[in-house]
Amino acid sequence: MLATCLFAASANAEPLTWPGGVVRVDLGPATDASPAVEFDGKRVLVISDNGRWQAVVGIPLSTPIGTTSIATSDGTTFAIEIGEHSYREQRLTVKQSYVTPNNEALERITAERKIIDAALNNWRAVEIEHVALQTPVDGPRSSSFGLRRFFNDQPRSPHSGMDIAANAGTAILAPLDGVVTATGNYYFNGNTVLLDHGQGFVTMFCHMSETDVAEGQFMQTGTRLGAVGATGRVTGAHLHFGTYLNGTAVDPALLLAGE
Ligand code: ZN
Repeated sequence: MLATCLFAASANAEPLTWPGGVVRVDLGPATDASPAVEFDGKRVLVISDNGRWQAVVGIPLSTPIGTTSIATSDGTTFAIEIGEHSYREQRLTVKQSYVTPNNEALERITAERKIIDAALNNWRAVEIEHVALQTPVDGPRSSSFGLRRFFNDQPRSPHSGMDIAANAGTAILAPLDGVVTATGNYYFNGNTVLLDHGQGFVTMFCHMSETDVAEGQFMQTGTRLGAVGATGRVTGAHLHFGTYLNGTAVDPALLLAGE
């Protein structure tokens, strides 16, 4: 009897995730064309998995605990349960110009933010078989996604990616096939590459010593994007690796293959 009750409960349960998480939502059998799905006004990635359409939704760190939902273009909604998740605090000391940038730097930051936001919110309509990423660099993860950060004791936005420690000059490899949608030397991020895998799935590589790619270039999984460095707002050489779904930063650990 207990087993029956448990089954009934789980059959009715909504997919559960947390702020900064990734959740898969079953949309039904993959018979017709892939449905157009939106979350919070943004298009959502849809894959076909074992004959079923599945939405792969990124949940912003700012999402309140409780129930939210995605909707298909025909108005069908699917509920998602957002649970508690606590993120630790991190305190870092950097050059003061990275904490209180002057007016010239602020103008530069605003211009770069537009380029980065455009790349993160780009919609490239391609079929995606899976969202499992290869690791871009081998090495220990010196800090993790979602940390509530203080630079020189000033609160700043939470850590939007995963830091992987590696020596300067270590090759950074494309974690999945993608197109370079932006690359440049940005104030906070240093030498950066944004790689678009399609349907709003984007990865970002920051603080590189050098970049070997050009905008518009198609990169196959495992090909070199550049090398680890210490450019931008850093305390030492490492790769900042960001992963984005539907325009929102999600925990890269949830998308790395085999983890
Ligand atoms: Zn980082």
